[in-house]
Amino acid sequence: MSAFWKIAVIGSGPAGFYAAGELFRQQSWSIKVDMFDRLPTPFGLVRGGVAPDHQKIKSVTKIYSRIAENENFRFFGNVEFGSDILRSDVLEFYDAVIYAVGSPSDRSLGIPGEELPGSHSATEFVAWYNGHPDFRGHKFDLSVKDVFVIGMGNVALDVARILAKTPEELSKTDIADYALETLFESQIEDIWLVGRRGPLQAAFTPVEAREFLELDSADVILEGGPLKLDAESQRILETDASKDTKKNIEILKQISEKNSSNKKKRVHFMFLASPLEILGNGGVEKIRMVRNQLVKRDDGSLRPQATGELMEENAGLIFRSIGYHGNPLADVPFDQNSGTIPNECGQIIDEDQDKSLRTREYVAGWIKRGPTGVIGTNKQDAVETVHRMLETFLQEKIEPRQQPDSSGIESLLKERNVDYVSFEDWKLLDEYETDSGQSQERPRVKVTSIDKMLEIIRDKKN
Ligand code: NAP
Repeated sequence: MSAFWKIAVIGSGPAGFYAAGELFRQQSWSIKVDMFDRLPTPFGLVRGGVAPDHQKIKSVTKIYSRIAENENFRFFGNVEFGSDILRSDVLEFYDAVIYAVGSPSDRSLGIPGEELPGSHSATEFVAWYNGHPDFRGHKFDLSVKDVFVIGMGNVALDVARILAKTPEELSKTDIADYALETLFESQIEDIWLVGRRGPLQAAFTPVEAREFLELDSADVILEGGPLKLDAESQRILETDASKDTKKNIEILKQISEKNSSNKKKRVHFMFLASPLEILGNGGVEKIRMVRNQLVKRDDGSLRPQATGELMEENAGLIFRSIGYHGNPLADVPFDQNSGTIPNECGQIIDEDQDKSLRTREYVAGWIKRGPTGVIGTNKQDAVETVHRMLETFLQEKIEPRQQPDSSGIESLLKERNVDYVSFEDWKLLDEYETDSGQSQERPRVKVTSIDKMLEIIRDKKN
């Protein structure tokens, strides 16, 4: 029998699972995959990022679970790369590694007052309401009337929608229990979505925008009245605009034509405005913004330019939602600017003078290309990486290294007292969560503390 190639995948989100799936699809290669995640739970942003009222999107985990059923797959949850296992360990025990760790941080606005209590990143809020163990202790004061969400991407829309929905609507989802309790106490009435460019340049997608036409408890308003576009945006709309952009404009038109029905809450779409400063004495009280106009760059893109027109509005809470950002991994090259690991088609480019390619280290997903696209985008992305890796093995005449058995990494983790979680263990926790959800007609009740997760797994095993 030919020797197995042993591949480590760091991160168990969509990119990691699509990479594992593609590795197993290779008929002429014998491959074993060990996947590591720093949380005991798999699936990355599908569990910790996708909004709780978007359950259908989460059904993609069924595909990932099928990949995990492969006899050559092992999951090691609750294992942190950089402390529990190091790059040197991975290179010792595996023929190659794929880093698929995503982009867990956020980008900041860089304006005064951003650090005031009440000013948060949307990524923290999303992780909090999704029950991510690192964020369960965060506090969000929803006893305020006005909330500003800066950014016009899908994350901004998720945050606005969760704040706009009634807790009753969310109570049948897998939102974290503590978040639901906090939302029951919410006094929020006005949610402002602020985009620095115009409607044509909005980063959200039509399916997500359309949900705002159907909110039970919130009116939706396009600030500034009927939809207006500058001449260049109008020209683009009539010529080169994508299908999605055209649909977005259609939806925004419908929003602008909607009559108010005096619902308890309002969601305001505000385009062509940038925050300049967050004001407050010991906490967020106001936001100062400037009205923008669009100017055409040499490359043809339309960028925001501040006019002199200033606006100051009351704000009790501010979420910046202007994109995720990757974090560096120990001993792995990193481009701080883009928040990604430098790579060529998924193969890591070294930081040495020649910018040579590392033959045994690869990347997939957001840490490879930046935080763009939907879940499915990661499939093509991971496929490219896997093929690049296998082609490199062939071109460089790399042979699988002889390892008598696969228990080496387990012994190492045990030696280091790492309480790792297998996929079978996760299935016990999954069962516990879904069983707990059943009586409440919810898909699951999430366990949000790592200690509690490990305790449940231990109890179920005994
Ligand atoms: P995003 O789509 O990149 O949107 C970021 C938004 O922030 C843009 O409107 C951008 O405006 C704005 N922005 C950036 N820098 C800014 C600044 N300095 N001041 C003001 N505004 C600024 O990012 P995201 O919303 O975090 O989403 C990340 C990815 O996840 C996206 O691909 C998204 O589609 C995906 N996602 C999908 C779903 C779903 O499918 N339901 C849900 C959530 C997230 P400019 O365009 O002017 O730069």
